[in-house]
Amino acid sequence: MALSAIPSASLPELYSRWLRELFPGPIPAETHATCDACVMLPSAGQILAQTPDARTFYFNPSTKCCTYVPQLHNFLVGQILLDDDPAFAPGRSSVESRLAARLGISPLGLAPPSSYSLQYEHGTLAFGRSRAMRCPHYLDEGGRCGVWKYRESTCCTWFCKYVRGAVGQNFWREALHPLLQTVEHQLAMWCLVELEFDAEPLEALLDASARSDAADPLKPEELDGRVEPAEYARLWGRWRGREADLYRECARLVSPLSWAQVLAIGGAEVQARARVATRAHARLMDSSIPARLAAGSVQLVQIGPEITRVASYSNELDPLDVPTPLLFALRYFDGRLTQDALREIKQNEGITLQEDLVRKLVDFSVLVSPGLSGIHSGED
Ligand code: SF4
Repeated sequence: MALSAIPSASLPELYSRWLRELFPGPIPAETHATCDACVMLPSAGQILAQTPDARTFYFNPSTKCCTYVPQLHNFLVGQILLDDDPAFAPGRSSVESRLAARLGISPLGLAPPSSYSLQYEHGTLAFGRSRAMRCPHYLDEGGRCGVWKYRESTCCTWFCKYVRGAVGQNFWREALHPLLQTVEHQLAMWCLVELEFDAEPLEALLDASARSDAADPLKPEELDGRVEPAEYARLWGRWRGREADLYRECARLVSPLSWAQVLAIGGAEVQARARVATRAHARLMDSSIPARLAAGSVQLVQIGPEITRVASYSNELDPLDVPTPLLFALRYFDGRLTQDALREIKQNEGITLQEDLVRKLVDFSVLVSPGLSGIHSGED
């Protein structure tokens, strides 16, 4: 499909508005990652694979990829609390439950409880599979996200598969995600300054964030799911008991901001990340083929006489099926001019490679710019 014919990505309204101001064109939708009809679920008769390096990797139907507790910054929490659409009630109530539990909540927003973060850090094998790791905003009914309209930076930029393979992953995961994450943090702190937070709670918040960066040992009350009252009072200052009001105020401050204002508030780091994201967006929209190519480093996952499944940029999540004869013809790509390699493949192997397929092999890093090369089997 031509890039221009691809539908635009569905992002939260606020982020979508900002990114329309940042990028010169739309962001193409990642149509291969189908949240409503998840492509990562096993079909009838297939068994859930046990390890991520198994030949076929599936998500658990009762979690899909949502084995993650999102960090909802104060203005996002406020947007959720202000949304009185009856259809949104289950999502709003999942946020109210986190608020009531008080675990991980602060004027900056709702963070995953420390004990959950520990599980998450060591739970790579549980990703997409463990019910215990499931997000509190995941709705059993329909297997949907309860806070989809206001999902945060990780949730709105993570995909199991990318239409443009490594190019898409670079845009979403390595450029847009860190940009939005930085924006969220900067805006959340800006809200507190605008609301004239006192120095004591600000100091406590800055301390807490420095401590979480340093991965301090867990405290007993954190493991027991309790909140230490004195520490809680210090964090909230005069807003203690009016936590939901604070979040709503933050939403009212952030919702009208333009992207230019976000850039000014976020300072040099947001501006630098915006520049990186703009370049990644330009690459995402560029479908040209490099003048010279070499075979990339891939794993041969499943070798068949006609089709071979290879894993390249994404290991188990997004393998690519390549015609086996074509895979052997890739040796012609050895850094010589692409047009010469294509001509010799046609002359010597009788294979005519269409431009779309070459583009796909490049996107999936099966072909790369000269420098990195080598095919190895899954047993290596
Ligand atoms: S917030 Fe929504 S998208 Fe994010 S992990 Fe939870 S259910 Fe999934």
